[in-house]
Amino acid sequence: MARRPRLHEFRLIEQLRRSFGRTGSAVVRGIGDDAAVIAPPQGRQLVLTTDLLVEGVHFDLRTASFKEIGYKAAIANLSDIAAMGARPEYALVSIALPASCTAPHVLRLYQGIMEACRPCRVALIGGDTSSSPHRLFLSLTVTGSVPAGAALMRSGARVGDLLYVTGTLGDSLAGLALLSRDRRQRAAPALKSSDRRFLLDRHRRPIAQSRLGQALSARRLASAAIDLSDGLSGDLHHLCEQSRVGAELRASALPISPALLAYARASKSDPVTLALQGGEDYELLFTVPPAKLRALQRMARRAGRRLTCIGVIRPKAFGVRVRDTTGRVRRLASTSYLHFRDAAPE
Ligand code: ADP
Ligand code: MG
Repeated sequence: MARRPRLHEFRLIEQLRRSFGRTGSAVVRGIGDDAAVIAPPQGRQLVLTTDLLVEGVHFDLRTASFKEIGYKAAIANLSDIAAMGARPEYALVSIALPASCTAPHVLRLYQGIMEACRPCRVALIGGDTSSSPHRLFLSLTVTGSVPAGAALMRSGARVGDLLYVTGTLGDSLAGLALLSRDRRQRAAPALKSSDRRFLLDRHRRPIAQSRLGQALSARRLASAAIDLSDGLSGDLHHLCEQSRVGAELRASALPISPALLAYARASKSDPVTLALQGGEDYELLFTVPPAKLRALQRMARRAGRRLTCIGVIRPKAFGVRVRDTTGRVRRLASTSYLHFRDAAPE
């Protein structure tokens, strides 16, 4: 049994169940028993992911609202499920609450979680509640399923496959930099308000590429996939290591939003570096065998989605390299987004 928090735990759980515990048709028992009971999806494999967020390490209650924290925690999990090509289905949420947290705080946290979960019809089916001596802890588990054998692994890329990404890169990092500059009351770069809003929104309200991930697996279009949580350079290295291959990126092909270009110009930073190193975009990076290209383009057209070919898989001995706009090829360092948490670019 967990140590009870000061606020009334049973009342809180009952409130969470009533407000958020909507159940799907396969939920035999949701919140309220010792464990949830789910009818297993026929002919499919289960996909499970969990994420632990710690106050002071992953978020800061002085700068992020409870709703934002809940939303982003859910997106991180939903994006992992999307990167496996799976359909997200259920969520379990465990929280450890410091004395300063009240029931309305917790409800706002769950509002954020459910704002991310509801569009993909993910049902909250349980969790656990404890007190915490100092900090807030939040752990989310999301389950999903995928047609048997269709899960997209990091390990499936082959030499000659083309490298693709969804959406645009680096926007979230620029949004974070704008926020931290606001906080330090530093002069903001001269940006149109619509560009600024776009970048802030991409940081605060990222979207998991759930439908696209499922389309890639259902049609067997991708040979490997990973979601971009750490940043392209780091995540591409993960994919290449798991697949035992190298890769060649084309800097000129990286999808960069007009807002990021404007930001880079105004802050005298390099948009390609931002696109390579920016984390938390939650776009998908995936590889496509050349024989599947036409089918991929058809799917993208039908889905109305922007997919960009940014390079090609090379043998392992080639390493992970980027061809810059002048045609020079250099090794791509595996920078992780973690470097930027405290030091967003100026
Ligand atoms: P136990 O002591 O057996 O763990 P709890 O009182 O913790 O029982 O949980 C009772 C029910 O409430 C379970 O269905 C559990 O999944 C659910 N639950 C508890 N805490 C949370 C939470 N923070 N969010 C969602 N569901 C919760
Ligand atoms: Mg419990």
